[in-house]
Amino acid sequence: MTDTADTTGQRRTAIERAWEELVATALRTVREGLVVGTSGNVSVRVGELVLVTPSGVPYDRLRPEDAVAVDLGGKQVLGSLTPTSELPMHLAVYRATGAGAVVHTHAVHATAVSTLVPELPLVHYMAAALGGPVRTAPYAVYGSPELAENMLVALRDRSGCLLRNHGTVTYGDTLDQAYDRTAQLEWMCRLWLTAASVPGREPSLLSEGQVREVQEKLRGYGQRG
Ligand code: 13P
Ligand code: ZN
Repeated sequence: MTDTADTTGQRRTAIERAWEELVATALRTVREGLVVGTSGNVSVRVGELVLVTPSGVPYDRLRPEDAVAVDLGGKQVLGSLTPTSELPMHLAVYRATGAGAVVHTHAVHATAVSTLVPELPLVHYMAAALGGPVRTAPYAVYGSPELAENMLVALRDRSGCLLRNHGTVTYGDTLDQAYDRTAQLEWMCRLWLTAASVPGREPSLLSEGQVREVQEKLRGYGQRG
């Protein structure tokens, strides 16, 4: 076997594995109630390629042969299904950050909060896991370059944001990390809505300094080694 054949073989395996993980993550967004039907989309980077969910296809129908990949310029290089309509958002994240994966959902509490405030109030220290107070990007029609631009501004120094009257976007080094950030964001939005809905009371909030302190501490969170 030549070096080239070797490299090609390894690459194909990496793509197959990444596709399997991507489909599992997309299925999780439905099972865990973060989207309904074919709403939302997921992507993962493999070298210079980005694997993405196809547009409008139920995730439980996706088979290994349905894999869809584009290059960073958006040119389709694998698969015959049309890529997600939110390709501009996904590619904008990869071009602007070192992201390994991106998750977009219509999670209900997060979307509710996106209609109420330009920034999620600091009700919990887990805002630190997303880089600080999570902003809401101004509304633009789904799939548009304008929405991708608005999202990038809202994402500055953050690993997640809300999209007004639409949903969430988070990214991470891996699919699991991007997914967990969406789940934490949705949980924090539910927390704020719950606390803010108590009549006659206002939730207490943390300062940006208190959240920054946690950001430092979280670097050492969990098991060592
Ligand atoms: P796709 O099915 O094209 O990924 O679109 C779903 C969505 O959430 C658009 O914002
Ligand atoms: Zn959407």
